[in-house]
Amino acid sequence: MILRQTRKMHIKPIKMRWLTGGVNYSYLLSTQDGSKSWLIDPAEAGEVLAELNKSQLASVEAIVNTHHHYDHAGGNVAMLAALKKEGHSVEVIAGSKTSPAATKIPDHSQRFKLGELEITCIRTPCHTQDSICYHVKDVSTNEQAIFTGDTLFTAGCGRFFEGTASEMDAALNDRILNAVQEPNWSSTRVFPGHEYTKGNVNFIRKAIYRHVGENNAFDALEKFTNQYEISTGHFTLSDELRFNPFMRLDDPIVRKMVGDDKGSWSRSQVMNQLRKMKNAS
Ligand SMILES: [Zn+2]
Repeated sequence: MILRQTRKMHIKPIKMRWLTGGVNYSYLLSTQDGSKSWLIDPAEAGEVLAELNKSQLASVEAIVNTHHHYDHAGGNVAMLAALKKEGHSVEVIAGSKTSPAATKIPDHSQRFKLGELEITCIRTPCHTQDSICYHVKDVSTNEQAIFTGDTLFTAGCGRFFEGTASEMDAALNDRILNAVQEPNWSSTRVFPGHEYTKGNVNFIRKAIYRHVGENNAFDALEKFTNQYEISTGHFTLSDELRFNPFMRLDDPIVRKMVGDDKGSWSRSQVMNQLRKMKNAS
């Protein structure tokens, strides 16, 4: 008998700021053999270092930020110092120099190689102007993931701190989807910057899909969140397209519930009103 071992890329979510309510995630993205990694948004160096063993620490080739906010980029300097102590000097990849110690500022669609992993930077300005989502594909297994920071949350999206509703529509529904490409949507697992799914589900049940049976994918998501605390990495871009109202701006139920009874609003008007309702919830 031949034993076949399926080797896979590794994604290790690391909880940060859960006791203070931030419910942030850092992620260690590693090649199949674990020899090379990206460390994404290690905002709290202490909490991250406690979760990494020696070889994981040694594998880090870059610290990577999804955007400049302190609860994502605030650990860059401390993390660099900890790595330097081990004899490693690494790149800091970020959307702008506002991220402390940034050394590489990728363009939209710029690609990086990490072993057998192919990573595409998708610039998604809105939550901040320097927001980047990172799509990763293991070319040997076709396994895929996207790290979305505070742009896309499972069943939600980030606040528009530095951008407009039309920019968020472009970020979620044009830039991400087009960069990943339709054949890959159903195999691309979503890894957001925060575990906000439960709150998003509560909002949607109160304000959008108020009745079971209106959206089966949403009903299933609600069941999942009633059962499990952790949702990161469990849902794909195709799932988001089925249950995330911010990616369903033309859904008649979404339009009706934001107040567009005639279906005559622009997509950005719908996006804007959805975000307003979520902010007020
Ligand atoms: Zn943020």
